Amino acid sequence: MLLPTNCLLCLASCEGDLCCACHDNLPRLPSDHCPSCLLPTSDSRICGACLASYPSWTRAIAALRYAFPIDAIIHSLKYQENLTVAPVLANLLMAKMNHCAPPDVIIPVPLHPVRLQERGFNQALEIGRHLSKKMGVPLLPHACVRTRDTLSQTELSWKKRRSNLRNAFACTTRFTQKHVAILDDVMTSGATLNELAKVVRKQGAIEVSVWAIARAIPSSTSIKTVEL
Ligand SMILES: [Zn+2]
Ligand SMILES: [Zn+2]
Repeated sequence: MLLPTNCLLCLASCEGDLCCACHDNLPRLPSDHCPSCLLPTSDSRICGACLASYPSWTRAIAALRYAFPIDAIIHSLKYQENLTVAPVLANLLMAKMNHCAPPDVIIPVPLHPVRLQERGFNQALEIGRHLSKKMGVPLLPHACVRTRDTLSQTELSWKKRRSNLRNAFACTTRFTQKHVAILDDVMTSGATLNELAKVVRKQGAIEVSVWAIARAIPSSTSIKTVEL
């Protein structure tokens, strides 16, 4: 039973996390996008970048496009320690997964120990807790570690992000024949998720799903959204 509650964004009374109006106004992914990296393409065909170098993941799922107000909600989780929004974000992602077979394990993208100390928590892990509970899939927050405190990715061009991340993760857990889901709050260039997907593959995973709450779309790409 859903108890009446208040919309996270406009405070109207509603039966979920968000009222219908706010939910309908969330920024969607482009209607035609690359099935691999989710960036806009014509006719939803695979993009040139993915054709040239296919990512290490099997599939990517993002609940939304990284734009207002989802960017503000994620920001409040990360930088204002508003942990109450973690289940809301998890629910938005869950809603995108109806037809997907659940993975065997979920790995939240680890923070470097220095960053973890600064922030006090890992936002991906907080979101992962709820997904794990709702889906009945084990969460493995310590299976992989971040070995390099990479420069803040936001200050680098998308191209430089890739080289900045080389050997950023290490993992000793074996995932032989497993379907592993890697979870992060935001997928920006995809370089972080791809780097971790590579490591998980090396550890034997046969299928890797990458999950993000929101996918950043570079402003230079044209966006065609669809009403859902
Ligand atoms: Zn609302
Ligand atoms: Zn692509």
